[in-house]
Amino acid sequence: MPEIIDRVEAFPIRVPRDVPYLGALEDGVSANSKGYFIRSRNKTIYPVNDQSVVVKITTSGGAIGWGECFASVGTHAVAHLITDVVGPFLLGRDPADVSVIYEDMYDMMRVRGFFGGFYVDALAGIDIALWDLKGKLVNQSVAKLLGGIRSDQLACYVSGLPQPTIKERADFARDCVDQGFRAIKFAAAVSFEGEVAEMRALRDAVGPDVQILCDLHWQYTAPEAIKKINALDIYDLALAEAPVKPEDLEGQAQVSAGVAVPIAIGEELRTRYEFRSRFVNRCMSVIQPDVAHTGITEFMNISRMAAGFHCQVMPHATIGLGLQQAASLQCAANLGNSPLQEYQHSVFNKNLAYINTDMKVEAGYFHLPTGPGIGAEPRPEVFDMVFDA
Ligand code: MG
Repeated sequence: MPEIIDRVEAFPIRVPRDVPYLGALEDGVSANSKGYFIRSRNKTIYPVNDQSVVVKITTSGGAIGWGECFASVGTHAVAHLITDVVGPFLLGRDPADVSVIYEDMYDMMRVRGFFGGFYVDALAGIDIALWDLKGKLVNQSVAKLLGGIRSDQLACYVSGLPQPTIKERADFARDCVDQGFRAIKFAAAVSFEGEVAEMRALRDAVGPDVQILCDLHWQYTAPEAIKKINALDIYDLALAEAPVKPEDLEGQAQVSAGVAVPIAIGEELRTRYEFRSRFVNRCMSVIQPDVAHTGITEFMNISRMAAGFHCQVMPHATIGLGLQQAASLQCAANLGNSPLQEYQHSVFNKNLAYINTDMKVEAGYFHLPTGPGIGAEPRPEVFDMVFDA
């Protein structure tokens, strides 16, 4: 008798951290009673601690699949959508039908206008858990189920330099290069001395052969972004990320056509439908889907669509426990157009202690986890970190 889905659970978790993601709070800024604050330069809300939703799906035979949703804010809203809205419809279904289930879940809320946002984030964690389950039931990795593993070692870039001063950030970048990393990304939202000063200091520190990427954090108009990227490229900029606001498609296309540096966008997008017009209008040459927003099914749909437009895929890595990182690597290991992965060192290393996996980063490479499914499971202590709204 085939195994059917018997239980769908969602756990809002909060993993403590000493220094907030991207670095310490600015002077005069403090977290509110819910543990959130806003970074002034990109006007974006961040949690002080790492928050996400862990999804657990259990079959009639007792097999368990694990997933994780992007839910760094509004964490309980995502969990509620899983347990209250979508989960009950999954009971009795065959977990091997994962892509069909993803599309059925997506269809449920389309005409209400929920084809993005928190709703699709909820679907992402379910989809990852179903792929994990499907892999475990046939004792195969997700990458194998997706069609095969091109490489079990994936080159990655060091994302974010959370030290307080430009000198310390440059020293940190140099240390990373000494450990074998060949690419570094800095974040404009915390480049308080200005991106060009930061770029110059980093280039001096790492030498000519290391790729330097810059996340512009959606801060500029198209003409401002073009000017900024050209100024950064004096020091050989490998990639400019998120130059203009996500709603400004024409601006994205203008920047992409106006500079010689590859433009990357898309960490905030969730579906083929959101990416489609950006591909058609050549808004970027690199896309950055995040599996914790898209799920595995749609991540692969988007990435294969990218190949049709000769775009590369450099997956975004969010604030999470690490189950989502394992899922992302399973996808990337299969793709022929994913040359570089994002390594969120300040999140990944700390939270690796809470999952059972042999996934690791060494000398500039992610090692794809072995084992069936996504190759990572939460440890029991994760469930001590479930928090109330
Ligand atoms: Mg980014």
